[in-house]
Amino acid sequence: MIENLLKFKNDLKSKIYFDFNIGKLTWFRTGGNAKIFILVENNRELEIILNEIKNNNFYILGSGSNLLIRDNGYDGIILKLGKGFNSFCIKQNKLEVGASVQDINLSNFALKNKIEGFEFFSGIPGSIGGAVKMNAGCFGSETKDVIESIEVYDNNCERNILNKKELNLGYRSSDIKKNKIISKVIFNISYGTPEIIKEKMLKVKSQRLSSQPIKNKTLGSTFKNPKNLYAAKLIEESGCKGMSCGNAYVSNKHANFLVNEGNATATDLENLGKMVIEKVYNKFSIKLDWEVKIIGEY
Ligand SMILES: Cc1cc2nc3c(=O)[nH]c(=O)nc-3n(C[C@H](O)[C@H](O)[C@H](O)COP(=O)(O)OP(=O)(O)OC[C@H]3O[C@@H](n4cnc5c(N)ncnc54)[C@H](O)[C@@H]3O)c2cc1C
Repeated sequence: MIENLLKFKNDLKSKIYFDFNIGKLTWFRTGGNAKIFILVENNRELEIILNEIKNNNFYILGSGSNLLIRDNGYDGIILKLGKGFNSFCIKQNKLEVGASVQDINLSNFALKNKIEGFEFFSGIPGSIGGAVKMNAGCFGSETKDVIESIEVYDNNCERNILNKKELNLGYRSSDIKKNKIISKVIFNISYGTPEIIKEKMLKVKSQRLSSQPIKNKTLGSTFKNPKNLYAAKLIEESGCKGMSCGNAYVSNKHANFLVNEGNATATDLENLGKMVIEKVYNKFSIKLDWEVKIIGEY
């Protein structure tokens, strides 16, 4: 497989890197190298690449805003969708969006086209592929509210359309398996008033600025909220705010955010998360569940 990838390297527009520092592409800006990293240019090249790598271990990276790569790196292939997946198209009251589009750009596109219901995306710093996989949401709205279906590829290079029901979108979760690559997302649309849409987007922005340490290196909410409870409140009441491990600490602004102070390792961050889980468990007998995805070798 590696030999063939090396052969392809010059024929494809996609970029293929070996022993690539993938940690620097995540929002935490820490973690190890990927054995192979491929920035996939477009659908046609995705099919060629999948045909080559199908039986190998691979993982798909979006914008890395919810992903921690362990310091020993990922012993496999990491794929990231590139320019050819950064598209918008309105077709018969549906909006088709490439999976590498940034959530903020989708929100701005919707505003420009007077489409309502996409304001919350302006508060999430990921890609649309990642938003679907995680059923991302904030301030009372989530991806599930506007999605119709997705286009996915699997490791056998088969392309399928899955409708919303098949995705089983739940709280920060979906049934989309690890070997499925979301290439395009189809949304339902309804039209609204630009002034109201803009106002909602500004509200999302100000709520984020006042409540989250968005200028730090973080991965957003680290743990899922247990049913009818807030993880941040449990963490704060367990005395974790400001707690640190190496160069990682629990944000003083929002207790469910772990922050890389600059030189934190992925191990610092993971261990700090484990310390938080233990403290919350000791105080409330509730086991927090990671929202952040962690991959790589121990
Ligand atoms: C400052 C900050 C604030 C945040 N606030 C929020 C918030 O308010 N609400 C919220 O829900 N989240 C929030 N997050 C978390 C994160 O932004 C979301 O989970 C986001 O949807 C992740 O998208 P991503 O493209 O960065 O995915 P990644 O972090 O790269 O990956 C996350 C998961 O999605 C999968 N994935 C990514 N792209 C694809 C694809 N094309 N096909 C298949 N699988 C894919 C990955 O394999 C991985 O399992 C925040 C993060 C930060 C850093």
